[in-house]
Amino acid sequence: MTIHVGLRIDVDTIRGTRDGVPALVRLLAKYDIQATFFMSVGPDNMGRNLWRLFKPKFLVKMLRSNAASLYGYETLISGTAWPGTMICKKLAHIIRLPHETGHEVGLHAWDHYTWQTHIDRFSEKRMLSHLQRGFDTLTEILGSRPKASAVPGWRANEKSLLLKERFGFSYNSDCRGKSLFVPMVGGKTLTTQIPTTLPTYDEVIGTNGISLINYNSFIISQCRPGQLNVYTIHAEVEGISLLGEFEKLLIQARKEGIKFQPLRNLLAAQSQPLHVGEIIKSTTQGREGWMAWQE
Ligand SMILES: [Zn+2]
Repeated sequence: MTIHVGLRIDVDTIRGTRDGVPALVRLLAKYDIQATFFMSVGPDNMGRNLWRLFKPKFLVKMLRSNAASLYGYETLISGTAWPGTMICKKLAHIIRLPHETGHEVGLHAWDHYTWQTHIDRFSEKRMLSHLQRGFDTLTEILGSRPKASAVPGWRANEKSLLLKERFGFSYNSDCRGKSLFVPMVGGKTLTTQIPTTLPTYDEVIGTNGISLINYNSFIISQCRPGQLNVYTIHAEVEGISLLGEFEKLLIQARKEGIKFQPLRNLLAAQSQPLHVGEIIKSTTQGREGWMAWQE
């Protein structure tokens, strides 16, 4: 029996765009797989995360997942002492690459770091400006409007869910959860959500006996027929330092009957009416702070 798994590739930084995206496009072509790339297009300020090393929980996670080798020192200092480089100015041709090779491309962020870190303090005006600049820039680069989006770090709140309605996305992928659903905010039903169902590498590596040796088997064991399966990887991680391991995952998954596909296919395959549900803030093992979850 075929197990359908949505493959979502988040692209957060200059380095992930420049090095990770072309490598993943080549790798996926080798195995005839299409996926959904969610792109960050504005300034790369991810180096500001460096200051979070002073928070013990974040430091433990960075050490557990060996973040310096995962993300690269360039990303760790990017935007710390100077304004972050504009990804859209340097790398528009690479942002276009997955779109030109048949993958689905959606909006991830204007400024990934600032959204992920400060969303709780965003005014409506500031949040709309992030969404609008991201949407307009990606539209210009692709030559067509992106039809899907995924907020950085699964950090969505009522304000962001309502503002995103203005952009006519066919779906959003803003939360963790277990099924496609229609979110309800303030008595209004909004655009369909396709949640990420599986954990990411940095959330589970080094916990509960999961190491590089059994990581791929663990992920595959979590994919089951008859349920929503959405796996998120990062261009910065699986596209660079873990590219070889990710290729092994693709090979092993194929043997186990798994078919990776873009998230838009999961929406198209949905024939039953979707249940209406709320999105709440919650935490998960291995990730600092809150994320949006399907209730
Ligand atoms: Zn991201």
